[in-house]
This record gives sequence, structure tokens and C-alpha cells, in this order.
Amino acid sequence: MTDAATRLATVRAEIARAARHARRDAAEVALVAVSKRRSAEEIEALIAAGHSDFGESRVQEAHDKWAAIKARHPHIRLHMVGRLQSNKAMEAAGLFDVIHSLDRSSLLDALSATPQCPPCFVQVNVGNEEQKGGVPLGELEAFLAKARGSGVSLAGLMAIAPRDREPGPYFALLADLASRHRIEGLSMGMSADYATAVMLGATVVRVGTALFED
Ligand SMILES: *Cc1c(COP(=O)(O)O)cnc(C)c1O
Repeated sequence: MTDAATRLATVRAEIARAARHARRDAAEVALVAVSKRRSAEEIEALIAAGHSDFGESRVQEAHDKWAAIKARHPHIRLHMVGRLQSNKAMEAAGLFDVIHSLDRSSLLDALSATPQCPPCFVQVNVGNEEQKGGVPLGELEAFLAKARGSGVSLAGLMAIAPRDREPGPYFALLADLASRHRIEGLSMGMSADYATAVMLGATVVRVGTALFED
């Protein structure tokens, strides 16, 4: 196996192990390979190993890097995982298949005005951290009501666990919020904590480093 194929197999095995542990079906968990700052060669190696869902955090970088790769591999699905400026909403809606970072009213307005807005995860600021994106916990209910009336298709809730803290309680909180609001999709878990996220109900994990570095 190539290095990329080995890392992919390792991450998939870890997802399967965590799913078994939680008596879940691993097929319910989608893996997004976060390829920000990775070269086309590194990405091609993962595609050759059979992977087809990739995440980027900047519209410009995604546009520059993915036009050529997508032309060669039209089945690839691209996910926007980073903070999205409202003035890039139109371009993002054309470029991405899923947006994980819908986090404020102005962006919702901009996205709902695009002709073919992809499904969006609502990002929640589960740690109520000032510097972090995401809808504040106290505003989530009103935001979801507005989103549901907007015509934008809701894929689920997304969160990034606070740094240097045990991630489990934050993932459990996001799962609880989703269930309270009858939302199924849960985008949570990165290289350091995706197994924990799978045990707590993640339906999408966003993994960068563990797929691209030994
Ligand atoms: C970079 C990034 C990831 C992947 O992070 P790793 O720790 O490298 O796995 C996941 N989600 C978001 C929002 C990111 O920006």
C-alpha cells in the first residue's frame, strides 16, 4: 500500500472500532479528508487510494486547487469547513457540495439568495468561546427557526471542540442539541478526537493531519 492508503485504512479502522464500541454502524459515519494547505499530489494519492470526500477551509484556495482535480475526478465531493465570508457565498455555493460553517444570519441570507445552495451544517459555538465561529448556544433556537424558514437545506449541526479540553462533553452537548431540534447530521471530530466523536454520534468526521502526515 502507499502511505496515503495506509493512513486511510488506519483512520477507517479506527472509525469502525469506535462505531462498534458504541454499537453503531460504521457506514453511518462519513469521512471528510480536510486537505487545506495540502498539495494536489497529496490529494491525488488519497483519491487513488479510493477516497472521494474532501474539505477545504478557504474559497480561494479551493477554487485554485480543485478546478483541475475535479475535472479529472468529477465524482469528488467538496466540503467547505472554514469560516465563510458572506461576499463569497455565491462562489462557495457553486464550488462546494456541502457547507459545514453556516454560523450567522448575514451568511444565511447570502446563501439563501444563491440559485443552488448546497446542504449546510449550522456551526455551533459549543464552548461559547469568543474567538471561535459558530452560533452562540443561547441563539441557536432562534437561528434554526430562521434557517428552517429560509429555504436552505439543513444537513445538521457542526462543532469544533475547544482546544486543550476534554472533547467528550462538547460532542455530547452537540448531539443533545441535534436530538432536541430533531436534526440528524452531526459534523464533529478532527484528527485528535474523531474516535470520541464517533462514539458520541458523529455522522461526519473532518480529518486532516491523520490522513496526510505520519
Ligand atoms: C483543519 C480542520 C480540520 C482538520 O483538522 P486536523 O486536526 O488536521 O484533523 C477539521 N475541521 C476544521 C473546521 C478544520 O479547519
